[in-house]
Amino acid sequence: ITRQQVRVESVIADSIKQLKPILNNKKIIMNVNSSVEVIGDPNQLRQVTNILLENALKYTNEGDTIEIYLSESRDKDCAVFSVSDTGIGIPTGEKSRIFERFYRIDKARSRKTGGTGLGLAIAKEIVDNHNGYIEVDSTIGIGSKFSVFLPLPGGTTEKNSE
Ligand code: ATP
Repeated sequence: ITRQQVRVESVIADSIKQLKPILNNKKIIMNVNSSVEVIGDPNQLRQVTNILLENALKYTNEGDTIEIYLSESRDKDCAVFSVSDTGIGIPTGEKSRIFERFYRIDKARSRKTGGTGLGLAIAKEIVDNHNGYIEVDSTIGIGSKFSVFLPLPGGTTEKNSE
């Protein structure tokens, strides 16, 4: 992976532009608190935002709103990026498994949306490679929130991977 200064807000903006054809009347709200920069690979990070936004779009209904939040957590020494949806949600017992390769929650609910079950596994791998972590908070029938935490440049959590 390349290691360069990346403005997370532009990565998100690129993703939204790319996903425009599948927005289907859904609204995306951006809550950006500050100009957040991390060290990493812009293409890989865009893959992460693509995967999370694509899922949010896949598992919501027409007219729903998807909320993006971006900020720096100084006490945690990291950038926080999250995607919240008001979609079908994830059963408690499945939350740890959705990051496994090829894992999809029952075929019936996923069939009409299609997919391989690789998206979240790839997203997790990329985030891991950036020394970050990804979390899910979800309630069935209410919605899901995926949060990505990435070390801030020069922070104590930013490990040197060389
Ligand atoms: P693809 O590989 O094309 O992304 P996928 O969506 O099935 O296909 P993952 O992105 O890995 O694969 O997601 C795994 C499973 O987690 C999905 O099958 C889906 O059931 C569930 N899931 C992921 N994101 C959401 C979400 N935002 N809301 C509800 N369920 C979700």
